[in-house]
Amino acid sequence: MINVENITKTFGKNEVLKGISTTVERGEVVAVIGPSGSGKSTFLRCLNLLETPTGGRITIDGTEITDPKTDIVRFRQRIGMVFQHFHLFPHMSVIDNIMFAPVKVKGLSREEARGKGMALLERVGLKEKADEFPSRLSGGQKQRIAIARSLAMDPEIMLFDEPTSALDPEMVKEVLEVLRGLADSGMTMLIVTHEMKFAREAADTIYFLDDGKLIEQAAPEQFFTAPKSERARRFLERVL
Ligand code: ADP
Ligand code: MG
Repeated sequence: MINVENITKTFGKNEVLKGISTTVERGEVVAVIGPSGSGKSTFLRCLNLLETPTGGRITIDGTEITDPKTDIVRFRQRIGMVFQHFHLFPHMSVIDNIMFAPVKVKGLSREEARGKGMALLERVGLKEKADEFPSRLSGGQKQRIAIARSLAMDPEIMLFDEPTSALDPEMVKEVLEVLRGLADSGMTMLIVTHEMKFAREAADTIYFLDDGKLIEQAAPEQFFTAPKSERARRFLERVL
């Protein structure tokens, strides 16, 4: 579904991605791990062109998104992204946060969008919070709302950049459970995470990035029990 061919990204003189190539299948769940500063966020952001790669090609479902002729604004609707900080609209209720883009961008009626929003709230376990304002929610609840809001656009791919890193430990689990449910439903997902247990249990594939390169790409069992590279071994020693 996603084909990445030798992408590079340079900021000034800093080469942050040094030629990454990979393929993600439809329904595949990828956990992206690696040291801070290794390029994980930049890699993810290139996949929906929040960053434009300096070189290389990205093709999604046969459309080359790095081709300047591609309508990236329309294409980006097919890719949801959830960040460490939730970026909910503070002046809107939970349900209005979720309905906003489907109504504004997709042209759904308010009624349709509300029905869909309520179903999504049920899915993330927060139906009773529909009319609440974000400021009255916990971090874990806000993140689950951010996920529901993203799903309201019917994305075919979901990107998560450290979705639990800003949360208190007791709230991490509820968000990981939502991610797990999404993974089990067949969503194509890439998740940058420091939650190694989750990565091991929920991902089909681990990407290990270091210094702008995709050093290892392996099934979780293989990666966590017998990493091939010295760098991955050292990283795992530090985090496990
Ligand atoms: P990670 O997510 O693995 O911690 P990032 O992709 O955020 O790594 O960053 C990789 C490198 O790219 C870092 O050295 C960072 O300072 C640099 N970088 C990221 N975004 C920008 C930017 N917008 N401008 C300049 N440098 C950036
Ligand atoms: Mg990052």
